[in-house]
Amino acid sequence: MPLDRHPGAQAAGINWLRLMCLRRPGHDLLDFSAAFNLFLLLAMGHFVGDFGLQGDKMACEKCPGCGRTLSWQWWLAAHGGIHAFLVALITGIPLLGLAEWILHMAIDVAKCRKLSSMRMDQGLHFACKALWAFVAVAVASQPGWLH
Ligand SMILES: [Zn+2]
Repeated sequence: MPLDRHPGAQAAGINWLRLMCLRRPGHDLLDFSAAFNLFLLLAMGHFVGDFGLQGDKMACEKCPGCGRTLSWQWWLAAHGGIHAFLVALITGIPLLGLAEWILHMAIDVAKCRKLSSMRMDQGLHFACKALWAFVAVAVASQPGWLH
């Protein structure tokens, strides 16, 4: 089944990637303009997920061994799930949301364990967003994606 016909992708509703590609027919496999615009949307979504939708309780209790009101795994899964949802919604590709879910949790646990600084943590998150943008544009450039 083509990814754009996947029920999850259709349920996402607004697919910014599709809109950008439809506005620019004949785009290349690596359309840097589309990838950069998608990266900007993902970066904006990152701030919504990591700051706007993450309260103090979640920020503390998602760390291993720090769960008080719920076990830390639930807090971490919920935080990663919010980011996963935003990535799936923006790209229209639920599998990229799943990849974000897994890597976001791993990067956050590394920060909880003081293996990375705030700067390193955020840098890794933005590197993931750049990767998702290029993968999404490459996938969308395949024949059959838009038609
Ligand atoms: Zn986070």
